[in-house]
Amino acid sequence: MVTRTLAIAMLGLFLGVAVSCSSTSSTAQKCDGCVAAKASNGWCDHCSIGYKPDGATTKCKSCHAGATGQTVWCVGCKKGYINGKASKCEGCVAQAKGGPKCPSCTK
Ligand SMILES: [Zn+2]
Ligand SMILES: [Zn+2]
Ligand SMILES: [Zn+2]
Repeated sequence: MVTRTLAIAMLGLFLGVAVSCSSTSSTAQKCDGCVAAKASNGWCDHCSIGYKPDGATTKCKSCHAGATGQTVWCVGCKKGYINGKASKCEGCVAQAKGGPKCPSCTK
């Protein structure tokens, strides 16, 4: 007596039908000012946040101005920018702004 029991294993196909929840946008900025600022490396007054050319953001307005091409020394952050290029030397920033030659960097 041959009992051919074809045990057809029911394939537990757990079809991960994840059709929904595909576009779950993470809490992105809804602020118009930010959208505009992000596009132009600008500053959003509403959120007090600046968008820098390198894609980073900053909460410091002076640093933002520097990062976007100005020559400024940010006292608060102790960071400087010469024509948008980061500089760690306050004297050099002052010099770039038309001040005396940087005392720390004169060779
Ligand atoms: Zn904003
Ligand atoms: Zn700063
Ligand atoms: Zn210097």
